[in-house]
Amino acid sequence: MPVFDHDEFDHHEQVVFGSDEASGLRAIIAIHDTSRGPALGGLRIFPYASDREALTDVLRLSRGMTYKSALADLPLGGGKAVIIADPRHDKSPDLLRAMGRLIDRLGGAYITAEDSGSSEADMRHIADVTDHVGGLPRHGAASGDPSPFTAWGVFCALKSAVRHGLGRDDLDGVRVALQGVGNVGAHLARHLHAAGARLVLTDVDATALAKIAGELDADAVTPAAIADADVDVFAPCALGAALSESVVDRLTARVVCGAANNQLASPAIADRLMARGILYTPDYVANAGGVIEIAWQRRDDYHREAVMQHIEGIGRTLDAIFARADREGRSPALVADDLARERFRTVD
Ligand code: NAD
Repeated sequence: MPVFDHDEFDHHEQVVFGSDEASGLRAIIAIHDTSRGPALGGLRIFPYASDREALTDVLRLSRGMTYKSALADLPLGGGKAVIIADPRHDKSPDLLRAMGRLIDRLGGAYITAEDSGSSEADMRHIADVTDHVGGLPRHGAASGDPSPFTAWGVFCALKSAVRHGLGRDDLDGVRVALQGVGNVGAHLARHLHAAGARLVLTDVDATALAKIAGELDADAVTPAAIADADVDVFAPCALGAALSESVVDRLTARVVCGAANNQLASPAIADRLMARGILYTPDYVANAGGVIEIAWQRRDDYHREAVMQHIEGIGRTLDAIFARADREGRSPALVADDLARERFRTVD
């Protein structure tokens, strides 16, 4: 399995493979860049079909964290960890503590947090053996769940995108199709509803969908129908690669802005969106609210108000990205990448 020649390697500083026979741990930690600070990124627990698939995922996600933290103006680099296991059956305190020891041996170069397949309870087991854990409640917070902060950031991002893409300063009557009403999507739906937006919602979980659609008096459609909804904004808040060629060609929305990571099925999709006159909001800029809050949790001067102001800065960052994209006639996705690289490649 190539590592240095892997398509996604992109000059990673360090890639660590770890195992523990007693607990069955098989894990990879990828540290992409630490020029702005320690590499913070979540721990994904997933039953990857192969080591190669796990390596591809961790490299892609780790690189994304470097870009996300740089554009969120955080003193952090980018990293990510994966455990090859089924989170429903294979997790045990021993496995998580073995992961914690692997993280600890890196001496703080990598800091972990929750991601798909890992929970706050899992972070507590990891914290038994290492200090290098974010995403746990501190400063009197009831929970370490970053989702409400991520949703608030996406809401701020969406307002910026609507300003640029639709020429509107408010969301009253703006129609939004929201794909995925999980942790982030449900919070986002409530913010949008409160701002007067009209919602079309979908989720593969029919029970969760019916509940929130009832609460917000929203339309509910099947997952297959969401790309055809007659709306102004499409908000992908489920899985990655939501924006394929066929989905982009079906969208009636003029703006795309959502929480999901890696929304573009391939980099070329950014140009396809632009060619159709659809304003794309770079995902890692929009969904940085969670990591901003985790970064503040590490400080001694945590103030919720300061955290929310920092998250609201996502809107201003996007204002600048959209303006530069207009000036240069390029996709906001490419402009965001350039801006991030300017920030993490120029640090002394
Ligand atoms: P989640 O698992 O709580 O929610 C995802 C929802 O999408 C679930 O309700 C699921 O049933 C639904 N879903 C799955 N496949 C679907 C499909 N094909 N069509 C419609 N719905 C589908 O996850 P989350 O924490 O809300 O995160 C959502 C997205 O945002 C993910 O891509 C995640 O990586 C990204 N993200 C989350 C955070 C965070 O703070 N939680 C931060 C940054 C990025």
